[in-house]
Amino acid sequence: MLRLLRNNTLVSSGKSLVSAFNGSVAKYSSQIPEPQTNPDILYTGLFINNEWHKSKTGKTFGSINPATEKTVAEIQCAGKEDVDIAVQAARNAFKSDSRWRRMDASNRGVLIYRLAELLERDRVYLASLETLDNGKPYAVAYNVDVPMAIKNLRYFAGWADKNHGKTIPMDGDYFAYTRHEPVGVCAQIIPWNFPIVMMAWKLGPALATGNTIVLKPAEQTSLTALYIAELTKEAGFPPGVVNVLPGFGDAGAALANHYDVDKVAFTGSTEVGKLIQQSSGKTNLKRVTLELGGKSPNIVLADTDMDYAVETSHFGLFFNMGQTCCAGSRTFVEEKIYDEFVERSAERAKKRTVGNPFEIHVEQGPQVDQEQLQRILGMIEEGKKQGAKLVAGGNRANQLPGYFVQPTVFADVQDDMTIAREEIFGPVQQIIRFKNLDEVIARANNSDYGLAAAVFTRDLDKANYIVQGLRAGTVWVNTYNILAAQIPFGGYKISGHGRENGEYALQNYTEVKSVIVKIPQKSS
Ligand code: NAP
Ligand code: MG
Repeated sequence: MLRLLRNNTLVSSGKSLVSAFNGSVAKYSSQIPEPQTNPDILYTGLFINNEWHKSKTGKTFGSINPATEKTVAEIQCAGKEDVDIAVQAARNAFKSDSRWRRMDASNRGVLIYRLAELLERDRVYLASLETLDNGKPYAVAYNVDVPMAIKNLRYFAGWADKNHGKTIPMDGDYFAYTRHEPVGVCAQIIPWNFPIVMMAWKLGPALATGNTIVLKPAEQTSLTALYIAELTKEAGFPPGVVNVLPGFGDAGAALANHYDVDKVAFTGSTEVGKLIQQSSGKTNLKRVTLELGGKSPNIVLADTDMDYAVETSHFGLFFNMGQTCCAGSRTFVEEKIYDEFVERSAERAKKRTVGNPFEIHVEQGPQVDQEQLQRILGMIEEGKKQGAKLVAGGNRANQLPGYFVQPTVFADVQDDMTIAREEIFGPVQQIIRFKNLDEVIARANNSDYGLAAAVFTRDLDKANYIVQGLRAGTVWVNTYNILAAQIPFGGYKISGHGRENGEYALQNYTEVKSVIVKIPQKSS
């Protein structure tokens, strides 16, 4: 995830990602433009057919700045009727004689590339708006979220005219080939933890393959999605190709249950993922891809570079206030180094800078909302009650107002404790002791989730042995949270199905059509 920054320091110096990140911020802080601490909020409506609309019900909901707990905007709340209108717009744009369907594939790529250029142009504004609405540090929004989204769009722009089928040597007097055709109207329901990145991950492959879209942002963070909606119009996408519906309470289910939606892509909780899959089964068997939760094991062997492993494991959990689906939330540490690792991890967590996310040096802003704050504090209480040893943090942070949580570390965590089984989605690290490789592989896999995992060791044989044994969609070796547009990302087990990013993502958005042509055996 911090690949951009990693190139500056990480590999050559052996410093951690967090040091690399902070180092970069310090080194280049003069190059990070000042944020707009009070960015204009330009769009709060429903974006349908390249126009702004009010909700048919007249309902609105507030968007809150989680660092101040103040409402920053009242947003139109899409209901079922609005969903019907947006789906119809997307259906019209998908008709076989529409401008979008008749457009050259390479031109679709040009439009996606243009959208990436517009994100680049408005990078400071978008990063500022994200910090206001989501609470993530501006330096992270500017250095990670926005550039990552831009890279993703550029990558998928390149795929637009390269997703071709095959000719197949079938038996008999036939010529056979496949076409990769768009699925149709795609609903995309994105989460609040990386709003801009998630929007780019969803739009890029869907647009490259020629689909039309109704995208629903999370109610906590609609603002950047609405601004990017306007950018799609500026980039030149025809009306109805990208529709964005903010909503709270009704819109998600209305999309999942809609008979004229061909596919739903969702990132969020496993609970809602299951509901979406059920909706598909109860309606038109729409295609479903799901990127859901995790409880990812991060395995630290005794031969590792201790400083590096402590720092990178800290980053693997605390990055983005712990609100990361692939967070290393079960840190397994080999018993020989366990005590020292715990002590150093606690020291590191206590040094973590928590505060106003618009300040450049701040590593940790507030959690996204009151509900997440309460859930995290509840999990911390559960950890204490079940006998885990609290070695750092453990409470709400002092910066009231704002949904801030102290960076928290638990030691002596047992596999069956709630904090070792359930997703916390907050700045709470669990450190667990293990003795040998086979034992830790089995314990790492003893989870319903299978999104990501990591191993830290200097021994390549041990690393490979562990990698092949883990049931997870991504395994990092001696690093954490490194994601890229080219690399598939997704889960085993209840962490979801389908892969985002890379060539694999194109499969989520295409149907394969086989064409079989009889070849005459004589010339007429
Ligand atoms: P959530 O419950 O996972 O998802 C909320 C989104 O799902 C909203 O956009 C909502 O739209 C939609 N939705 C709700 N019911 C639906 C249904 N039946 N069919 C289709 N869509 C539906 O998110 P949350 O409540 O903010 O977070 C809960 C937990 O999810 C977190 O604590 C965390 O563990 C996990 N999470 C994971 C990720 C990730 O990256 N994997 C990201 C965020 C959160 P409406 O408002 O219109 O109903
Ligand atoms: Mg908000």
